Amino acid sequence: MLGQMMHRPLLIQPMMAYAAAYHGDQELVTRCVEGGIHRYTYRAAYARMGQLANALTRLGVKPHDRIGTVAWNTHRHFELYYAVAGIGAVCHTINPRLFHDQLTYIVNHAADRFLFVDLTFVPILEKLAPHLKGVEAYVILTDGAHMPQTTLHPVLCYEELLAPEDGVCEWPEFDENTAAALCYTSGTTGNPKGALYSHRSTVIHALSIFVGADGRWLTTKDSLLLVVPMFHVSAWGFPFMAPIAGTKLVFPGADYSGQALHELLAAERVTFTAGVPTVWIGLLGYLREHGLKLTTLTRMLCGGTAPPEAMMREFEQEHGVEFIQGWGMTETSPVGSLCVLPPAQAALPDDARYRLKRKQGRAPFGYDMRIVGDDGAILEHDGTAAGELQVRGNWVISGYFRDEAATRAAMDLDGWFRTGDVASIDAQGFMEITDRTKDLIKSGGEWISSIALENSVIGHPDVSEAAAIARPHPKWGERPLLVVVPKAGRTPSKESVLAYLKDKVAPWWLPDDVVVAADLPHTATGKVSKAQLRDRFKDHVLPTA
Ligand code: AMP
Repeated sequence: MLGQMMHRPLLIQPMMAYAAAYHGDQELVTRCVEGGIHRYTYRAAYARMGQLANALTRLGVKPHDRIGTVAWNTHRHFELYYAVAGIGAVCHTINPRLFHDQLTYIVNHAADRFLFVDLTFVPILEKLAPHLKGVEAYVILTDGAHMPQTTLHPVLCYEELLAPEDGVCEWPEFDENTAAALCYTSGTTGNPKGALYSHRSTVIHALSIFVGADGRWLTTKDSLLLVVPMFHVSAWGFPFMAPIAGTKLVFPGADYSGQALHELLAAERVTFTAGVPTVWIGLLGYLREHGLKLTTLTRMLCGGTAPPEAMMREFEQEHGVEFIQGWGMTETSPVGSLCVLPPAQAALPDDARYRLKRKQGRAPFGYDMRIVGDDGAILEHDGTAAGELQVRGNWVISGYFRDEAATRAAMDLDGWFRTGDVASIDAQGFMEITDRTKDLIKSGGEWISSIALENSVIGHPDVSEAAAIARPHPKWGERPLLVVVPKAGRTPSKESVLAYLKDKVAPWWLPDDVVVAADLPHTATGKVSKAQLRDRFKDHVLPTA
Protein backbone atom coordinates (compact mmCIF):
# COMPACT_ATOMS: atom_id res chain seq x y z
CA MET A 1 0.00 0.00 0.00
CA LEU A 2 1.42 3.42 -0.93
CA GLY A 3 1.16 6.47 1.32
CA GLN A 4 -1.30 9.14 0.28
CA MET A 5 0.93 12.18 0.36
CA MET A 6 1.58 14.79 -2.29
CA HIS A 7 4.74 14.55 -4.33
CA ARG A 8 6.37 17.91 -4.99
CA PRO A 9 9.63 17.81 -6.95
CA LEU A 10 12.77 18.77 -5.00
CA LEU A 11 14.07 21.64 -7.15
CA ILE A 12 16.78 24.26 -6.62
CA GLN A 13 14.96 27.43 -7.68
CA PRO A 14 12.30 27.21 -4.90
CA MET A 15 15.10 27.58 -2.31
CA MET A 16 15.70 31.14 -3.54
CA ALA A 17 11.97 31.77 -3.96
CA TYR A 18 11.67 30.84 -0.29
CA ALA A 19 14.56 33.13 0.71
CA ALA A 20 13.06 36.05 -1.22
CA ALA A 21 9.66 35.51 0.39
CA TYR A 22 10.73 34.77 3.96
CA HIS A 23 14.19 36.35 4.31
CA GLY A 24 13.81 39.03 1.66
CA ASP A 25 15.68 41.73 3.62
CA GLN A 26 18.68 39.55 4.49
CA GLU A 27 21.91 40.86 2.94
CA LEU A 28 24.35 39.43 0.40
CA VAL A 29 27.72 41.18 0.29
CA THR A 30 30.43 40.82 -2.37
CA ARG A 31 33.99 42.07 -2.61
CA CYS A 32 33.80 42.80 -6.34
CA VAL A 33 36.45 41.58 -8.77
CA GLU A 34 36.47 45.17 -10.20
CA GLY A 35 37.04 46.58 -6.67
CA GLY A 36 34.61 47.92 -4.08
CA ILE A 37 31.82 46.22 -2.15
CA HIS A 38 28.43 45.28 -3.62
CA ARG A 39 25.39 44.82 -1.36
CA TYR A 40 21.86 43.72 -2.02
CA THR A 41 19.18 41.51 -0.48
CA TYR A 42 17.80 38.05 -1.15
CA ARG A 43 14.73 39.78 -2.60
CA ALA A 44 16.85 41.77 -5.06
CA ALA A 45 19.01 38.75 -5.88
CA TYR A 46 15.93 36.72 -6.71
CA ALA A 47 14.68 39.40 -9.11
CA ARG A 48 18.10 39.45 -10.82
CA MET A 49 17.97 35.65 -11.14
CA GLY A 50 14.65 36.12 -12.95
CA GLN A 51 16.29 38.68 -15.28
CA LEU A 52 19.19 36.31 -15.93
CA ALA A 53 16.86 33.35 -16.60
CA ASN A 54 14.93 35.47 -19.12
CA ALA A 55 18.18 36.59 -20.73
CA LEU A 56 19.41 33.00 -21.02
CA THR A 57 16.16 32.01 -22.70
CA ARG A 58 16.56 34.95 -25.08
CA LEU A 59 20.07 33.66 -25.94
CA GLY A 60 18.45 30.36 -26.88
CA VAL A 61 19.49 28.29 -23.85
CA LYS A 62 17.35 25.15 -23.66
CA PRO A 63 16.79 22.64 -20.85
CA HIS A 64 19.80 20.32 -20.34
CA ASP A 65 22.24 22.70 -22.12
CA ARG A 66 25.52 23.13 -20.24
CA ILE A 67 26.47 26.68 -19.29
CA GLY A 68 30.04 27.05 -18.02
CA THR A 69 31.26 29.45 -15.35
CA VAL A 70 34.91 30.41 -14.79
CA ALA A 71 34.39 32.64 -11.81
CA TRP A 72 35.19 33.66 -8.24
CA ASN A 73 32.74 33.72 -5.35
CA THR A 74 30.53 36.70 -6.14
CA HIS A 75 26.85 37.61 -6.24
CA ARG A 76 26.89 37.17 -10.02
CA HIS A 77 28.18 33.60 -9.75
CA PHE A 78 25.44 32.99 -7.14
CA GLU A 79 22.84 34.31 -9.60
CA LEU A 80 24.13 31.89 -12.25
CA TYR A 81 23.81 28.92 -9.86
CA TYR A 82 20.08 29.51 -9.54
CA ALA A 83 19.09 30.98 -12.91
CA VAL A 84 20.82 28.29 -15.00
CA ALA A 85 19.49 25.37 -12.95
CA GLY A 86 16.14 27.15 -12.57
CA ILE A 87 15.39 26.96 -16.31
CA GLY A 88 16.41 23.29 -16.42
CA ALA A 89 19.90 23.87 -17.85
CA VAL A 90 23.14 22.70 -16.18
CA CYS A 91 25.50 25.08 -14.38
CA HIS A 92 28.98 23.77 -15.12
CA THR A 93 31.43 25.32 -12.67
CA ILE A 94 35.01 25.19 -13.98
CA ASN A 95 38.12 25.24 -11.78
CA PRO A 96 40.39 27.89 -13.38
CA ARG A 97 43.45 26.45 -11.59
CA LEU A 98 43.48 23.36 -13.80
CA PHE A 99 45.99 23.05 -16.62
CA HIS A 100 45.05 24.55 -19.95
CA ASP A 101 44.68 21.19 -21.70
CA GLN A 102 42.42 20.00 -18.87
CA LEU A 103 40.29 23.14 -19.17
CA THR A 104 39.98 22.64 -22.92
CA TYR A 105 39.03 19.01 -22.43
CA ILE A 106 36.42 19.88 -19.79
CA VAL A 107 34.68 22.61 -21.82
CA ASN A 108 34.60 20.40 -24.93
CA HIS A 109 33.57 17.24 -23.07
CA ALA A 110 30.75 19.09 -21.31
CA ALA A 111 29.80 20.75 -24.62
CA ASP A 112 29.34 24.11 -22.89
CA ARG A 113 27.32 26.49 -25.10
CA PHE A 114 28.13 29.70 -23.21
CA LEU A 115 30.94 30.59 -20.82
CA PHE A 116 30.46 33.18 -18.07
CA VAL A 117 33.90 34.49 -17.20
CA ASP A 118 35.30 36.77 -14.47
CA LEU A 119 37.67 39.55 -15.60
CA THR A 120 40.63 37.76 -13.99
CA PHE A 121 40.23 34.74 -16.26
CA VAL A 122 39.74 36.53 -19.59
CA PRO A 123 43.46 36.11 -20.57
CA ILE A 124 43.28 32.32 -19.96
CA LEU A 125 40.10 32.01 -22.02
CA GLU A 126 41.66 34.06 -24.83
CA LYS A 127 44.41 31.42 -25.09
CA LEU A 128 41.96 28.53 -25.00
CA ALA A 129 39.18 29.98 -27.19
CA PRO A 130 40.51 28.64 -30.54
CA HIS A 131 40.21 25.11 -29.13
CA LEU A 132 36.75 25.48 -27.54
CA LYS A 133 34.61 24.05 -30.28
CA GLY A 134 31.05 24.47 -29.09
CA VAL A 135 31.19 27.76 -27.21
CA GLU A 136 28.78 30.19 -28.90
CA ALA A 137 29.60 33.29 -26.81
CA TYR A 138 31.59 34.49 -23.79
CA VAL A 139 29.82 36.59 -21.18
CA ILE A 140 32.14 38.74 -19.06
CA LEU A 141 30.92 39.02 -15.47
CA THR A 142 31.10 42.79 -15.19
CA ASP A 143 29.37 46.04 -16.17
CA GLY A 144 29.79 48.17 -19.28
CA ALA A 145 32.34 50.46 -17.64
CA HIS A 146 34.71 47.58 -16.87
CA MET A 147 34.42 45.61 -20.13
CA PRO A 148 37.97 44.67 -21.21
CA GLN A 149 39.54 44.81 -24.64
CA THR A 150 39.49 41.16 -25.59
CA THR A 151 39.97 38.81 -28.50
CA LEU A 152 37.10 36.65 -27.16
CA HIS A 153 34.35 36.58 -29.74
CA PRO A 154 31.42 36.95 -29.63
CA VAL A 155 31.63 38.63 -26.26
CA LEU A 156 28.80 39.98 -24.11
CA CYS A 157 28.66 42.06 -20.94
CA TYR A 158 26.78 40.43 -18.03
CA GLU A 159 25.11 43.61 -16.75
CA GLU A 160 24.10 44.65 -20.26
CA LEU A 161 22.68 41.19 -20.85
CA LEU A 162 20.46 41.50 -17.78
CA ALA A 163 19.47 45.16 -18.15
CA PRO A 164 16.60 44.86 -20.66
CA GLU A 165 15.01 41.91 -18.85
CA ASP A 166 12.13 41.79 -16.43
CA GLY A 167 12.75 40.17 -13.03
CA VAL A 168 9.47 38.31 -13.30
CA CYS A 169 10.15 34.84 -14.60
CA GLU A 170 7.90 31.88 -15.31
CA TRP A 171 10.10 29.34 -13.55
CA PRO A 172 9.32 25.93 -15.04
CA GLU A 173 8.59 22.85 -12.95
CA PHE A 174 10.21 19.58 -14.02
CA ASP A 175 11.43 16.19 -12.79
CA GLU A 176 13.58 16.48 -9.67
CA ASN A 177 16.10 14.04 -11.18
CA THR A 178 16.96 16.57 -13.91
CA ALA A 179 20.67 17.49 -14.00
CA ALA A 180 21.36 20.83 -12.29
CA ALA A 181 25.13 21.24 -11.98
CA LEU A 182 28.33 19.70 -13.27
CA CYS A 183 31.81 19.72 -11.74
CA TYR A 184 34.92 17.90 -12.98
CA THR A 185 37.60 16.42 -10.78
CA SER A 186 41.11 15.78 -12.08
CA GLY A 187 42.18 12.21 -11.60
CA THR A 188 45.30 10.08 -11.24
CA THR A 189 45.82 9.72 -14.95
CA GLY A 190 43.79 10.49 -18.02
CA ASN A 191 41.17 13.15 -18.36
CA PRO A 192 39.17 14.90 -15.65
CA LYS A 193 35.89 13.21 -14.76
CA GLY A 194 32.51 14.92 -14.38
CA ALA A 195 30.13 14.62 -11.45
CA LEU A 196 26.64 15.56 -12.63
CA TYR A 197 24.43 16.63 -9.72
CA SER A 198 20.64 16.57 -9.93
CA HIS A 199 18.15 19.00 -8.41
CA ARG A 200 17.08 16.26 -6.03
CA SER A 201 20.63 15.39 -4.92
CA THR A 202 21.44 19.07 -4.39
CA VAL A 203 18.37 19.74 -2.25
CA ILE A 204 18.79 16.55 -0.20
CA HIS A 205 22.50 17.33 0.34
CA ALA A 206 21.70 20.85 1.54
CA LEU A 207 19.02 19.65 3.96
CA SER A 208 21.00 16.68 5.25
CA ILE A 209 24.25 18.55 5.87
CA PHE A 210 22.32 21.33 7.53
CA VAL A 211 20.76 18.83 9.96
CA GLY A 212 23.96 16.74 10.24
CA ALA A 213 25.85 19.78 11.50
CA ASP A 214 23.97 19.48 14.80
CA GLY A 215 22.82 23.10 14.73
CA ARG A 216 26.40 24.34 14.42
CA TRP A 217 25.77 26.67 11.52
CA LEU A 218 23.46 28.90 9.55
CA THR A 219 20.63 30.65 11.32
CA THR A 220 19.02 34.00 10.48
CA LYS A 221 21.44 35.55 13.01
CA ASP A 222 24.52 34.28 11.18
CA SER A 223 26.79 35.91 8.67
CA LEU A 224 28.60 33.37 6.45
CA LEU A 225 31.88 34.19 4.71
CA LEU A 226 31.99 31.74 1.79
CA VAL A 227 35.71 31.12 1.30
CA VAL A 228 35.48 27.68 -0.33
CA PRO A 229 35.42 28.40 -4.08
CA MET A 230 32.11 28.24 -5.92
CA PHE A 231 34.01 26.56 -8.79
CA HIS A 232 34.65 23.60 -6.49
CA VAL A 233 31.67 21.27 -5.77
CA SER A 234 29.02 23.99 -5.39
CA ALA A 235 31.05 25.59 -2.56
CA TRP A 236 30.21 22.59 -0.36
CA GLY A 237 26.46 23.29 -0.74
CA PHE A 238 26.45 26.55 1.24
CA PRO A 239 24.92 28.61 -1.60
CA PHE A 240 21.88 26.35 -1.17
CA MET A 241 21.91 26.08 2.63
CA ALA A 242 22.21 29.83 3.30
CA PRO A 243 19.00 30.89 1.48
CA ILE A 244 16.79 28.35 3.21
CA ALA A 245 18.35 29.26 6.56
CA GLY A 246 18.00 33.00 5.88
CA THR A 247 21.71 33.53 6.56
CA LYS A 248 23.64 36.60 5.43
CA LEU A 249 26.12 35.60 2.71
CA VAL A 250 29.50 37.26 2.20
CA PHE A 251 31.41 36.53 -1.04
CA PRO A 252 35.18 37.28 -0.97
CA GLY A 253 35.61 37.76 -4.73
CA ALA A 254 39.17 37.35 -6.00
CA ASP A 255 41.13 38.31 -2.87
CA TYR A 256 41.94 35.42 -0.52
CA SER A 257 44.80 37.14 1.32
CA GLY A 258 44.83 37.09 5.12
CA GLN A 259 44.31 40.86 5.17
CA ALA A 260 41.31 40.81 2.79
CA LEU A 261 39.63 37.96 4.64
CA HIS A 262 40.21 39.61 8.00
CA GLU A 263 38.70 42.86 6.72
CA LEU A 264 35.53 41.06 5.61
CA LEU A 265 35.33 38.96 8.78
CA ALA A 266 35.41 42.12 10.89
CA ALA A 267 33.36 44.50 8.71
CA GLU A 268 30.56 42.02 7.98
CA ARG A 269 30.54 40.62 11.53
CA VAL A 270 31.02 37.11 10.18
CA THR A 271 30.00 34.31 12.58
CA PHE A 272 30.66 31.27 10.38
CA THR A 273 33.05 30.45 7.57
CA ALA A 274 34.18 27.49 5.47
CA GLY A 275 37.33 26.76 3.44
CA VAL A 276 40.47 24.65 2.94
CA PRO A 277 43.40 24.63 5.43
CA THR A 278 45.82 26.59 3.22
CA VAL A 279 43.62 29.69 3.32
CA TRP A 280 43.29 29.50 7.11
CA ILE A 281 47.05 29.17 7.52
CA GLY A 282 47.36 32.45 5.58
CA LEU A 283 44.75 34.11 7.78
CA LEU A 284 46.38 32.92 11.02
CA GLY A 285 49.76 34.22 9.81
CA TYR A 286 48.23 37.66 9.16
CA LEU A 287 46.48 37.72 12.55
CA ARG A 288 49.70 36.76 14.37
CA GLU A 289 51.80 39.28 12.47
CA HIS A 290 49.40 42.14 13.31
CA GLY A 291 48.46 41.02 16.84
CA LEU A 292 44.77 40.71 15.87
CA LYS A 293 41.98 38.57 17.37
CA LEU A 294 38.83 37.27 15.70
CA THR A 295 35.95 38.76 17.63
CA THR A 296 32.74 37.78 15.82
CA LEU A 297 33.58 34.39 14.29
CA THR A 298 32.26 31.49 16.41
CA ARG A 299 32.47 28.38 14.17
CA MET A 300 34.31 27.31 11.03
CA LEU A 301 34.27 24.31 8.71
CA CYS A 302 37.56 23.16 7.24
CA GLY A 303 38.05 20.31 4.78
CA GLY A 304 39.49 19.21 1.47
CA THR A 305 42.72 18.11 3.17
CA ALA A 306 43.44 17.06 6.75
CA PRO A 307 43.89 20.24 8.84
CA PRO A 308 46.94 20.31 11.14
CA GLU A 309 46.12 19.97 14.82
CA ALA A 310 48.16 23.09 15.67
CA MET A 311 45.84 25.13 13.44
CA MET A 312 42.72 23.76 15.12
CA ARG A 313 44.17 24.58 18.53
CA GLU A 314 45.15 28.10 17.50
CA PHE A 315 41.66 28.95 16.20
CA GLU A 316 39.98 27.46 19.26
CA GLN A 317 42.37 28.59 21.98
CA GLU A 318 43.55 31.98 20.65
CA HIS A 319 40.36 33.10 18.91
CA GLY A 320 37.51 31.17 20.60
CA VAL A 321 36.33 29.71 17.25
CA GLU A 322 34.87 26.18 17.22
CA PHE A 323 36.85 24.33 14.54
CA ILE A 324 34.95 21.62 12.65
CA GLN A 325 36.68 19.33 10.19
CA GLY A 326 34.72 17.90 7.25
CA TRP A 327 35.56 15.27 4.65
CA GLY A 328 34.06 15.05 1.20
CA MET A 329 34.61 14.59 -2.51
CA THR A 330 33.51 16.13 -5.78
CA GLU A 331 31.72 12.84 -6.39
CA THR A 332 29.73 13.15 -3.16
CA SER A 333 28.34 16.70 -3.54
CA PRO A 334 30.73 16.92 -1.48
CA VAL A 335 30.05 16.49 2.25
CA GLY A 336 30.39 12.94 3.57
CA SER A 337 31.39 13.48 7.17
CA LEU A 338 31.62 16.19 9.80
CA CYS A 339 33.69 16.02 12.96
CA VAL A 340 31.09 17.50 15.29
CA LEU A 341 31.64 16.19 18.81
CA PRO A 342 28.63 15.04 20.86
CA PRO A 343 28.57 16.36 24.47
CA ALA A 344 30.48 13.45 26.06
CA GLN A 345 33.38 13.76 23.59
CA ALA A 346 33.31 17.56 23.64
CA ALA A 347 33.93 17.37 27.41
CA LEU A 348 37.09 15.24 27.06
CA PRO A 349 40.43 16.68 28.23
CA ASP A 350 42.21 18.64 25.49
CA ASP A 351 44.61 15.97 24.27
CA ALA A 352 41.93 13.28 23.94
CA ARG A 353 39.54 15.78 22.35
CA TYR A 354 42.06 16.84 19.70
CA ARG A 355 42.93 13.21 19.00
CA LEU A 356 39.27 12.83 18.04
CA LYS A 357 39.06 16.14 16.19
CA ARG A 358 41.93 15.01 13.98
CA LYS A 359 39.54 12.34 12.62
CA GLN A 360 37.45 13.24 9.58
CA GLY A 361 34.21 12.71 11.51
CA ARG A 362 30.84 11.04 11.30
CA ALA A 363 28.46 10.55 8.39
CA PRO A 364 25.21 12.51 8.38
CA PHE A 365 21.91 10.62 8.14
CA GLY A 366 21.39 9.23 4.63
CA TYR A 367 25.07 8.61 3.86
CA ASP A 368 26.39 5.08 4.34
CA MET A 369 30.06 4.27 4.82
CA ARG A 370 31.86 0.95 4.81
CA ILE A 371 35.50 -0.09 4.75
CA VAL A 372 36.63 -2.93 2.56
CA GLY A 373 39.86 -4.97 2.81
CA ASP A 374 42.14 -5.88 -0.11
CA ASP A 375 40.39 -9.28 -0.29
CA GLY A 376 36.96 -7.64 -0.60
CA ALA A 377 35.96 -8.43 3.00
CA ILE A 378 33.82 -5.81 4.80
CA LEU A 379 35.86 -4.72 7.83
CA GLU A 380 34.78 -4.04 11.41
CA HIS A 381 34.11 -0.52 12.64
CA ASP A 382 36.50 -0.95 15.55
CA GLY A 383 38.76 2.06 15.05
CA THR A 384 41.69 -0.19 14.10
CA ALA A 385 40.86 -2.09 10.91
CA ALA A 386 41.62 0.05 7.87
CA GLY A 387 40.41 -0.52 4.31
CA GLU A 388 39.12 1.28 1.26
CA LEU A 389 36.34 3.67 2.17
CA GLN A 390 33.21 3.07 0.11
CA VAL A 391 30.08 5.21 0.34
CA ARG A 392 26.53 5.39 -0.96
CA GLY A 393 23.67 7.82 -0.56
CA ASN A 394 21.33 10.19 -2.36
CA TRP A 395 24.09 12.71 -3.02
CA VAL A 396 26.78 10.29 -4.26
CA ILE A 397 27.36 9.86 -8.02
CA SER A 398 26.05 6.70 -9.67
CA GLY A 399 28.60 7.17 -12.48
CA TYR A 400 30.74 9.81 -14.19
CA PHE A 401 29.31 12.08 -16.89
CA ARG A 402 29.76 10.34 -20.25
CA ASP A 403 32.73 8.27 -19.06
CA GLU A 404 31.98 4.56 -18.89
CA ALA A 405 35.54 3.41 -18.20
CA ALA A 406 35.92 5.76 -15.22
CA THR A 407 32.46 4.74 -13.99
CA ARG A 408 33.32 1.03 -14.13
CA ALA A 409 36.52 1.64 -12.18
CA ALA A 410 34.82 3.73 -9.49
CA MET A 411 31.65 1.79 -8.76
CA ASP A 412 31.72 -1.40 -6.73
CA LEU A 413 29.65 -4.24 -8.14
CA ASP A 414 26.95 -3.82 -5.52
CA GLY A 415 26.53 -0.10 -6.19
CA TRP A 416 28.88 1.50 -3.65
CA PHE A 417 31.22 4.30 -4.75
CA ARG A 418 34.92 3.61 -4.21
CA THR A 419 36.44 6.76 -2.75
CA GLY A 420 40.11 5.85 -3.20
CA ASP A 421 40.66 6.84 0.44
CA VAL A 422 41.78 4.30 3.04
CA ALA A 423 40.11 4.74 6.41
CA SER A 424 39.17 3.23 9.75
CA ILE A 425 35.84 3.81 11.46
CA ASP A 426 35.49 3.53 15.24
CA ALA A 427 32.56 2.19 17.27
CA GLN A 428 31.03 5.69 17.55
CA GLY A 429 31.22 6.10 13.76
CA PHE A 430 34.21 8.50 13.67
CA MET A 431 35.96 7.90 10.34
CA GLU A 432 39.68 8.56 10.01
CA ILE A 433 41.54 8.67 6.71
CA THR A 434 44.80 6.77 7.07
CA ASP A 435 46.00 6.49 3.47
CA ARG A 436 44.96 6.72 -0.16
CA THR A 437 44.70 4.11 -2.90
CA LYS A 438 44.52 6.83 -5.56
CA ASP A 439 47.94 8.01 -6.55
CA LEU A 440 47.56 11.71 -5.89
CA ILE A 441 49.08 14.49 -3.81
CA LYS A 442 46.83 17.28 -2.55
CA SER A 443 48.62 20.62 -2.36
CA GLY A 444 46.63 23.62 -1.19
CA GLY A 445 43.40 21.84 -2.04
CA GLU A 446 44.46 21.03 -5.64
CA TRP A 447 45.59 17.67 -6.98
CA ILE A 448 49.04 16.74 -8.25
CA SER A 449 49.16 13.41 -10.08
CA SER A 450 52.05 11.27 -8.79
CA ILE A 451 51.89 9.14 -11.92
CA ALA A 452 52.16 12.16 -14.22
CA LEU A 453 55.21 13.37 -12.24
CA GLU A 454 56.82 9.92 -12.45
CA ASN A 455 56.15 9.63 -16.18
CA SER A 456 57.66 13.07 -16.75
CA VAL A 457 60.92 12.34 -14.94
CA ILE A 458 61.48 8.93 -16.46
CA GLY A 459 63.07 10.41 -19.58
CA HIS A 460 65.90 11.85 -17.46
CA PRO A 461 69.15 10.24 -18.74
CA ASP A 462 70.29 9.16 -15.25
CA VAL A 463 66.96 7.88 -13.85
CA SER A 464 65.76 4.29 -14.22
CA GLU A 465 62.71 4.35 -11.93
CA ALA A 466 60.87 7.01 -9.94
CA ALA A 467 58.00 7.31 -7.50
CA ALA A 468 56.32 10.40 -6.06
CA ILE A 469 54.62 10.41 -2.67
CA ALA A 470 53.00 13.07 -0.50
CA ARG A 471 54.79 14.43 2.56
CA PRO A 472 53.16 16.77 5.06
CA HIS A 473 53.72 20.49 4.60
CA PRO A 474 52.71 23.20 7.09
CA LYS A 475 51.34 25.59 4.46
CA TRP A 476 50.14 23.40 1.59
CA GLY A 477 48.98 20.34 3.53
CA GLU A 478 50.97 18.03 1.28
CA ARG A 479 53.86 18.50 -1.15
CA PRO A 480 55.55 15.97 -3.45
CA LEU A 481 58.67 14.04 -2.53
CA LEU A 482 60.20 12.34 -5.57
CA VAL A 483 62.27 9.22 -5.02
CA VAL A 484 64.49 8.28 -7.98
CA VAL A 485 66.56 5.16 -8.65
CA PRO A 486 69.70 5.83 -10.74
CA LYS A 487 70.57 3.97 -13.91
CA ALA A 488 73.61 1.72 -13.41
CA GLY A 489 76.74 3.81 -12.99
CA ARG A 490 74.87 7.15 -13.07
CA THR A 491 74.30 9.64 -10.25
CA PRO A 492 71.31 11.95 -10.85
CA SER A 493 71.37 15.06 -8.66
CA LYS A 494 68.35 16.75 -7.17
CA GLU A 495 69.16 19.89 -9.18
CA SER A 496 69.36 18.05 -12.49
CA VAL A 497 66.05 16.25 -11.84
CA LEU A 498 64.29 19.51 -10.98
CA ALA A 499 65.83 21.24 -14.00
CA TYR A 500 64.67 18.35 -16.19
CA LEU A 501 61.10 18.58 -14.88
CA LYS A 502 60.93 22.37 -15.09
CA ASP A 503 59.38 22.68 -18.54
CA LYS A 504 57.42 19.42 -18.33
CA VAL A 505 55.07 20.12 -15.41
CA ALA A 506 53.42 23.20 -13.90
CA PRO A 507 55.72 25.10 -11.50
CA TRP A 508 53.55 24.20 -8.48
CA TRP A 509 53.90 20.49 -9.33
CA LEU A 510 57.72 20.53 -8.97
CA PRO A 511 58.74 18.22 -6.09
CA ASP A 512 59.84 19.92 -2.86
CA ASP A 513 62.55 17.31 -2.52
CA VAL A 514 64.24 14.66 -4.64
CA VAL A 515 65.88 11.69 -2.95
CA VAL A 516 68.12 9.21 -4.74
CA ALA A 517 67.52 5.62 -3.53
CA ALA A 518 69.13 2.32 -4.44
CA ASP A 519 65.73 0.72 -5.08
CA LEU A 520 61.97 1.08 -4.67
CA PRO A 521 59.72 -1.42 -2.86
CA HIS A 522 57.51 -3.47 -5.22
CA THR A 523 54.30 -5.47 -4.84
CA ALA A 524 53.95 -9.09 -5.96
CA THR A 525 52.64 -7.86 -9.31
CA GLY A 526 55.70 -5.68 -9.85
CA LYS A 527 54.10 -2.29 -9.13
CA VAL A 528 55.81 0.19 -6.85
CA SER A 529 54.31 -0.27 -3.38
CA LYS A 530 53.40 3.28 -2.41
CA ALA A 531 52.29 2.07 1.02
CA GLN A 532 55.76 0.65 1.74
CA LEU A 533 57.46 3.68 0.20
CA ARG A 534 55.40 6.06 2.36
CA ASP A 535 56.38 3.97 5.36
CA ARG A 536 60.05 4.08 4.39
CA PHE A 537 59.91 7.89 4.19
CA LYS A 538 57.56 8.48 7.11
CA ASP A 539 60.18 10.52 8.98
CA HIS A 540 61.38 12.47 5.95
CA VAL A 541 60.98 16.21 6.49
CA LEU A 542 60.77 18.30 3.33
CA PRO A 543 63.34 21.12 3.19
CA THR A 544 60.47 23.53 2.51
CA ALA A 545 58.46 22.43 5.56
P1 AMP B 1 38.05 16.61 -4.24
O1 AMP B 1 37.14 15.74 -5.01
O2 AMP B 1 39.04 17.34 -5.08
O3 AMP B 1 37.27 17.49 -3.33
O4 AMP B 1 38.94 15.69 -3.31
C1 AMP B 1 38.39 14.70 -2.47
C2 AMP B 1 39.49 14.04 -1.69
O5 AMP B 1 40.15 15.00 -0.86
C3 AMP B 1 39.06 12.95 -0.75
O6 AMP B 1 38.85 11.72 -1.39
C4 AMP B 1 40.24 12.90 0.22
O7 AMP B 1 41.32 12.19 -0.33
C5 AMP B 1 40.64 14.37 0.31
N1 AMP B 1 40.01 15.01 1.49
C6 AMP B 1 38.90 15.77 1.52
N2 AMP B 1 38.65 16.19 2.78
C7 AMP B 1 39.62 15.69 3.57
C8 AMP B 1 39.92 15.75 4.98
N3 AMP B 1 39.18 16.45 5.83
N4 AMP B 1 41.01 15.09 5.41
C9 AMP B 1 41.79 14.37 4.57
N5 AMP B 1 41.57 14.28 3.24
C10 AMP B 1 40.49 14.93 2.74
